[in-house]
Amino acid sequence: MIPYGRQHITQQDIDAVIQVLQSDFLTQGPAVPAFEQRFTELTTARYAVAVNSATSALHLACLALDVKPGSRVWTSPITFVASANCARYCGALVDFVDIEADTGNICISALRHKLEQARLTDTLPQVVIPVHLAGLSCDMQQLHYLAVEFGFRIIEDASHAVGATYHNQPVGSCQYSDITIFSFHPVKIITTAEGGMALTNSPQLADSMRLLRSHGITRDAEHMTEPSHGSWYYQQLQLGFNYRMTDLQAALGLSQSQRLPHIIAKRQQLAKNYQQLLHALPIQLPPAETERLSAFHLYIIRLNDSTRRKAVFDGLRQAEIGVNVHYIPVHTQPYYQQLGFDWGDYPQAEAFYDSIISLPLYPELTSEQQHYIADTLRTLLA
Ligand SMILES: *Cc1c(COP(=O)(O)O)cnc(C)c1O
Repeated sequence: MIPYGRQHITQQDIDAVIQVLQSDFLTQGPAVPAFEQRFTELTTARYAVAVNSATSALHLACLALDVKPGSRVWTSPITFVASANCARYCGALVDFVDIEADTGNICISALRHKLEQARLTDTLPQVVIPVHLAGLSCDMQQLHYLAVEFGFRIIEDASHAVGATYHNQPVGSCQYSDITIFSFHPVKIITTAEGGMALTNSPQLADSMRLLRSHGITRDAEHMTEPSHGSWYYQQLQLGFNYRMTDLQAALGLSQSQRLPHIIAKRQQLAKNYQQLLHALPIQLPPAETERLSAFHLYIIRLNDSTRRKAVFDGLRQAEIGVNVHYIPVHTQPYYQQLGFDWGDYPQAEAFYDSIISLPLYPELTSEQQHYIADTLRTLLA
């Protein structure tokens, strides 16, 4: 089976992890700050906080922005469930904004409309979480204008978009947001096995996320409520978590990040190949954008005739092509249905879901495999 995504591990990656295994620190050592430093350089953000998953990063980001019971958090229905669950961990009310049909990203005009309605009923969101689907950034400048006008904060869920750019700035620069989060799960752009990161330009938000990442405990006398008892002393200031990344993971991520430009170039080349192989088929291909360079975490096609999606999907799987669907709209999950959402709530998202297939895309996918995938798809659509 050709998988839809797959990690790429080199001997250099393996050596980097072994070096940590032979060192003094498996966790809480020097590799984590080195990995964080690397990401401040890659993104130009001032602070980076590495954690054990993007889900943890989303949770910490919500907490740092004071999301709590009664807060309102809005996101896109076309995402992984973690983009919405993070707000639920804080007891917040989650709501969704429908998507734009071509990119699958949150629709700016639908958002404006919903914000105007919410202003009338005094139910404006405290935080909006745009998701850069497949690695293509949302229109962050427009989102920023709305954030200023309607007074909400922004967490970018850039799980798919490590290495992408927006208006020639790296995604993660946080130029138009408060916090950006990345995922380093094996199917994503670079991996630490499990892992994630939060980027921000705010020292307060960075401090808050660092504190909460490790039990809410500080060893910094400046933050203590009474004079330190001695060099062993620490204080727990808040109810935090153990969301720490290990040094093994950070060393793997650091090693992988050296190849990031190469990985992005490769993914874009593979996307270009698909574009040439598939453009004549009765499907819509990912939009070609010049202002926004996609990281191409996913290659999502939309069938013009969605009634044929299941048969085409099954045919591809039977041909040993590991296609997938990204995503089942979050509001239709039973957990969210229990909260009052239902089919029909977000028509664009549901129409998108009905018509999509994610084709395999990862650095080691070969040209022969791409031809095989294209030929199989052409036959199934004929
Ligand atoms: C993968 C993913 C997450 C969660 O990432 P983990 O690192 O597995 O916690 C969150 N949001 C989106 C959009 C994702 O694709």
